[in-house]
Amino acid sequence: MNSVDKDTVSGLFYLDMTPILGGEKDKLEFDCKISPDACKALGRLDFPDVAFPGDFHLFGTVVSFEGYMEADITFSLPYVAECARCLEKCEDVFTVHIRKPVADTKGKNKIIDEDTDDYLLIRDSKLPLGDIAVLEAELDFPTKHLCKEDCKGLCPKCGKNLNLGDCDCRKKDIDPRLEKLKAMKAMFSED
Ligand SMILES: [Zn+2]
Ligand SMILES: [Zn+2]
Repeated sequence: MNSVDKDTVSGLFYLDMTPILGGEKDKLEFDCKISPDACKALGRLDFPDVAFPGDFHLFGTVVSFEGYMEADITFSLPYVAECARCLEKCEDVFTVHIRKPVADTKGKNKIIDEDTDDYLLIRDSKLPLGDIAVLEAELDFPTKHLCKEDCKGLCPKCGKNLNLGDCDCRKKDIDPRLEKLKAMKAMFSED
């Protein structure tokens, strides 16, 4: 696995900021695909139990209001993972949204503290949007996946997927004394 310096432009995608920095434009739009394989080759977004069947989609804008720059980034990642309860494959799309001010590391808009998290930093007139989006996705990507909110999971005894119907284990286990208690509880909670 390659070691990747998170501060360097990773080659995933970067936006040339020259038109904004030079004052020619006050808005730049971007819309591109990022290949999961390219990320994986860099050791990024490489989760053991998650597969990415299609390209990631990165899009948004960078605007400048008289020198104050702000980026609005959307990054969406279609993925396939295993449901934590029933172990079926589940498909979903994970989306991160980033809206942050942008600052240059040189020139008239440069900021002094480069360790700040408050700004997205331009390096050599380029904004490493791919790197920024991938990092954010890595931080926020869910670690547990469910095929649906109310997935019933597997029966701990026979292993049947209970989303497909009940198994017989539950019926056999019902204790007649418990049933009486349940009936009483139901009576009391009615009024
Ligand atoms: Zn499930
Ligand atoms: Zn069962």
